[in-house]
Amino acid sequence: MKLGVCAPQYNLKEFFVELVNLKVNSDKASFCEAVKKGLGQNQGLYFPENIQPMDDIPGLLNLPLVERSIKVLTHLIGDELPKEKIEEFVSNAFTFPAPLEKVSDNIFSLELFHGPTLAFKDFGGRFMAQCLAYISDGNPVTILTATSGDTGAAVAHAFHGINNIQVVILFPKGKISPLQEKLFTTLGGNIHTVAIDADFDACQQLVKTAFDDPDVREGLHLNSANSINISRLMAQICYYFEAIAQLPEEQQSKAVFAVPSGNFGNLTAGIIAKLLGLPIKRFIAATNSNDTVPRFLKTGKWEPNATIATISNAMDVSQPNNWPRIQAMIDKGMFDPNLLIGEAVDEQYTQLAMRQMSSLGYTSEPHAAVSYRCLTKSLEEDEVGIFLGTAHPAKFRETVENVLGQPIALPKALAESVAKEAFSVDVENDYQALKTHLFDLLS
Ligand SMILES: *Cc1c(COP(=O)(O)O)cnc(C)c1O
Repeated sequence: MKLGVCAPQYNLKEFFVELVNLKVNSDKASFCEAVKKGLGQNQGLYFPENIQPMDDIPGLLNLPLVERSIKVLTHLIGDELPKEKIEEFVSNAFTFPAPLEKVSDNIFSLELFHGPTLAFKDFGGRFMAQCLAYISDGNPVTILTATSGDTGAAVAHAFHGINNIQVVILFPKGKISPLQEKLFTTLGGNIHTVAIDADFDACQQLVKTAFDDPDVREGLHLNSANSINISRLMAQICYYFEAIAQLPEEQQSKAVFAVPSGNFGNLTAGIIAKLLGLPIKRFIAATNSNDTVPRFLKTGKWEPNATIATISNAMDVSQPNNWPRIQAMIDKGMFDPNLLIGEAVDEQYTQLAMRQMSSLGYTSEPHAAVSYRCLTKSLEEDEVGIFLGTAHPAKFRETVENVLGQPIALPKALAESVAKEAFSVDVENDYQALKTHLFDLLS
């Protein structure tokens, strides 16, 4: 391993977390290297070799979000980044709250959509942007990422205006909500957006192919900002602590998290939070009809089907990128697979769940509704259910208005984006065409 890949004045000290490529175990990386590279050899994901539990969880739970998150991330990253830097990055990234809202007696929504692009991806995107801007130390970087809706917006906003970093976002043309699209195609400057005539899995495949192509990887100094980037994942661990911290103490060990899942980054982060010692009772992997993981958990067979378009489009993923990380935690005996069940929710039940929440006085959107449905189905008497409110309902205004039959107001950030002109370019689903476009754009 190369030492001193962070800004040159900081060498690795004795306490750092070694990350291992889950496909090529001899390929190891430090946190900074993994942030820079995104993916390892053979498109393998980096993951910590082991995860040490934290001391004094009750003490941690008493701290405010930013202070606690600094401790969690320092524990995970070690002193590879200077402590002041971690403090600075967390303070700059986590500038909005993650409130736990009561939906019914024993079910809560962890609202992760109070950031600038109104989805949970702001947490990881903003932390990652800070890390990468620091680690790249002024050298040119191209972020190439595929989005099923919300990643693009979070990444675009997080990196917008950073000098040496160019961002290229691929998205499935016509398959994401018009409001989602406006949030990232209207920024301009260093943010470039490409509409691919295919589904999200195809976009993701194009990104992977680009990373395997040395001309592009080295020529354009590629970096991925998908949830495969370890810095995003680590930032997401923090809000699981924030959720438990807001429960009354006697309920803290009864929490069941239902995680609306597409690429499975969020669930990976939740399981890591549990390995750090957070007293989460169990997890539900909640998907829409793209149910590769729920079927896998029942049958032991990994059999992805073609991706199906649903109203919870950010979860229209049939080959979830992050699953190998969860599988690794299971295979290494770090996480007991009996504490995870999978549930797939079809369109009708998704809509029903939205209406049920509405009748309880809580307006929600399709992604969260998928996970709410799983809780109403499987929560036991002595448990407290928390589902992740992954996006603001206004981001899915058309669907929410159709299902609930009532108008929904746009928050300021969305209203401003809608008024702007979009800049995306259409490219067919063909790697050579994309490559040509990238070089035209960036060199
Ligand atoms: C990205 C996204 C998801 C899925 O999260 P993963 O970490 O990819 O499983 C769920 N809901 C919304 C609103 C999203 O944007």
